[in-house]
Amino acid sequence: MEILAEHVNYVMQELPPHVTLVAVTKTRPVELLEEAYSLGLRDFGENRVQEMCDKQPLLPADVRWHQIGHLQTNKVKYIAPFVHLIHSVDSLKLLAEINRQAAKYERVIEVLLQVYIAKEESKFGLDDDEVIELLNHHETAAMQNIRICGLMGMATFTDNDQVVRNEFASLKKLFEKLRNDFFSGNEEFRWLSMGMSGDYHIAIEEGSNMVRIGTALFGER
Ligand SMILES: *Cc1c(COP(=O)(O)O)cnc(C)c1O
Repeated sequence: MEILAEHVNYVMQELPPHVTLVAVTKTRPVELLEEAYSLGLRDFGENRVQEMCDKQPLLPADVRWHQIGHLQTNKVKYIAPFVHLIHSVDSLKLLAEINRQAAKYERVIEVLLQVYIAKEESKFGLDDDEVIELLNHHETAAMQNIRICGLMGMATFTDNDQVVRNEFASLKKLFEKLRNDFFSGNEEFRWLSMGMSGDYHIAIEEGSNMVRIGTALFGER
């Protein structure tokens, strides 16, 4: 408990006040989430639907649950009643299903679009043109039960800080462009989710206002 408090306080005190900390709790036992909660953390990130659904009823109701991992369309229904923010929207089909499920529960679900910025091969995320296509799509405009609130990206896993910095800077640039072109005068497009344990300092310097941190808070998984 003392060790956890030390790590949590260290990370929290390092973050500028405009940066939201999402504590990544995937693979961690509920007891650890309860400790984290008692230290004041409220935003928890999970990457597997089943695990989030198992943990959610066991934690206080004011926990904000973030879906940070790839989300399959057929699993949206399980998190739709309670999820706070979905970081990993990477297709129109997924967006449409989130909208459909949110409507069932009479909710508006906030989402981020996941953008592919890393050099390494990845199956997930949209490129810049695909993001613009999705935002321009007439179906997107008609969705009443989702709110697109920003972007999420993951940098290349590398020791080369300059590569990481350039990737984050390119995502920030896209974020500004989209905010200007699609959301001007609209405050809801506001989150730039980038930065994990190994690279959150760089991410914040490059304009992140939401970091997703597991290892630096809770140790190796
Ligand atoms: C696991 C994970 C994180 C946190 O990684 P750490 O290196 O433990 O901080 C952040 N974002 C996503 C999408 C993840 O899957």
